[in-house]
Amino acid sequence: MGHPHDRRFRRSAVRLLTPVRSAPWLDPTMAELVQRYLDQLVAEYAPVGDGALADYIPELTTVDPTGFGLTISSSDGFLYESGDARTEFTIQSISKPFTYALALDRVGQQAVDAKIGVEPSGDAFNEISVDEHTKIPKNPMINAGAIAAVSLVPGATPDERFAQIRDFYSACAGRPLEIDEDVYRSEKATGSRNRAIAYMLTSFGVLDEPDDVLDVYFRQCSLRVTSVDLARMAATLARGGINPQTGRRVTGAPVVQRTLSVMVTCGMYNGAGDWVSAVGMPAKSGVGGGIAAVLPGQLGIGVYSPLLDGRGNSVRGVLVCRALSERLGLHFLTVGRESRATIRAVYEPRPGVRVYELHGDLMFAGAEKALRTVDRDCGEFAVGVFDVTRVDTINDPARELLAGMSTTLRAAGKQGYVVDPDSAVVRPDRGFDDVVFRTLDDAVAAAGEWLRDNQSR
Ligand code: GLN
Repeated sequence: MGHPHDRRFRRSAVRLLTPVRSAPWLDPTMAELVQRYLDQLVAEYAPVGDGALADYIPELTTVDPTGFGLTISSSDGFLYESGDARTEFTIQSISKPFTYALALDRVGQQAVDAKIGVEPSGDAFNEISVDEHTKIPKNPMINAGAIAAVSLVPGATPDERFAQIRDFYSACAGRPLEIDEDVYRSEKATGSRNRAIAYMLTSFGVLDEPDDVLDVYFRQCSLRVTSVDLARMAATLARGGINPQTGRRVTGAPVVQRTLSVMVTCGMYNGAGDWVSAVGMPAKSGVGGGIAAVLPGQLGIGVYSPLLDGRGNSVRGVLVCRALSERLGLHFLTVGRESRATIRAVYEPRPGVRVYELHGDLMFAGAEKALRTVDRDCGEFAVGVFDVTRVDTINDPARELLAGMSTTLRAAGKQGYVVDPDSAVVRPDRGFDDVVFRTLDDAVAAAGEWLRDNQSR
């Protein structure tokens, strides 16, 4: 099942790994370690048979209830797949965040916000409701909001509108997606509930032509995907709108940020609170049995397992995502290792001079931690030297904090020096020339001089 040596794995590995290993069976690769982990996880949860197939669309009751697939895409498009990762099923409600993103992309946030809110509803996905005060759907993840989102996608005819939707999803998945005609017809023939929702929205002035809009909504829900497609679509969101496999920008970062926000608060319907606490990733489920989960900047996850809980979320999908998150530390509110290990070393090359060696990605939280450490220690030294030679990236808030640290020490009658060979932290034009040094030796020598001058007074 999904072993790295089988054809299915090698297909993806060969495409993405350069150079191609001539004899991958000779020694295990790092990729294989992850692959084994995924296979174990799928084997562990394979026996779980709880839940029921969605039955409100007759056609959905015909799928194999034991189907189970898991795919992870790294942010550079590397895939790990296990189980029935390439089994096709209908996307159903996982379409909702993507149509919402498309609407934001095409008509802008203001126009979208005028028709769809961003408040979690706590209601079931197919609740016939609008917000009591605004009279628009509470959010784009329940059917009412999703149907309104379809109506915002520009197009003179339902065909044109659907073509835009399909192209957008396909660009995220990196392959052309096809419709499942049977599921589409089945849902169109029986979708009274959604018809009720669409007509209610028309009565509140949210949309016109409910039948045309519904037809497109039924078609979008019937697009066929695999867990691989979902992982790739999720990875496109993780990458801020760039499909990591094709390198194509599908939409902009602000659209993705807004979309992920509503996935966090509303993606798992009335299970959203549990999900965010336990799994901690923006995600979307569908009654076809899929879940797509996004770890921003890092991963896209796709799961397929069609037996559902009472909220319409895949039972095994939720369990597997939960296990993945716990075991790999994927909860998006986990403090990153970098920010915990921002101070790599602290030492005193001579009495009164303390060197703080910083490393990793220095963001606000990491810099703030460094600042507090220095603040706590500053009774113990006269010159603090911040060595940022090993800092990989730094953002503006962190930069400001470091510069502020130097200024504050000076104001306290001490000195704060920065060792910054590449001007990563202190830009040359900032007037900090006398405290910024190219090498640690230069800084320590300057500190010695300063101590001599100031201690003799
Ligand atoms: N097509 C389904 C509906 O509109 C999608 C619901 C879902 O996946 N939660 O009811």
